[in-house]
Amino acid sequence: MIAFCSSCGAKTESRLVGTQRLSACPECDQIFFRNPKVVVAALIEEAGRVLLVLRDIEPGRGLWGLPGGYVDWDEHPHDALARECLEETGAVVEPLTLLPLQHVITGDDGIVILPYRARLLGGDLEARDEVQQIGWFAPEAMPPLAFASHRKILQHWTKEVLARGAA
Ligand SMILES: [Zn+2]
Repeated sequence: MIAFCSSCGAKTESRLVGTQRLSACPECDQIFFRNPKVVVAALIEEAGRVLLVLRDIEPGRGLWGLPGGYVDWDEHPHDALARECLEETGAVVEPLTLLPLQHVITGDDGIVILPYRARLLGGDLEARDEVQQIGWFAPEAMPPLAFASHRKILQHWTKEVLARGAA
């Protein structure tokens, strides 16, 4: 909840808007709607293995996850994906298909995760911003993961790789 109005500085009040209890300004009548944040995650596969990062920031510090992060307000998710992969791993990637999205509620935030399959085009792969290590992992040798959402995305991928192997 927002304590003070960002337009006029008055103390906000709680107001029921539809089914949502939101902060509203009694002076200028502004309502502070709450919208989810958008996150992109990259599934980069090469030779049956996926590129993961060992996180160096909370949440999930010391655990592994897919490269990715928050989309800036004016940024296309494709551009966010390419930017985050480069910042975290040095990988130059292009987004391919969008995989089933994930929806997470954490604390006061709603998060929509857009997982993309991405193609590795090049770059100098190394641990960069907010990352301790990077590594390639096969479906049968997944490291401890930071997020249930990433686990679900990787489970889809694992099934697909195993089905491919069986075909
Ligand atoms: Zn106001």
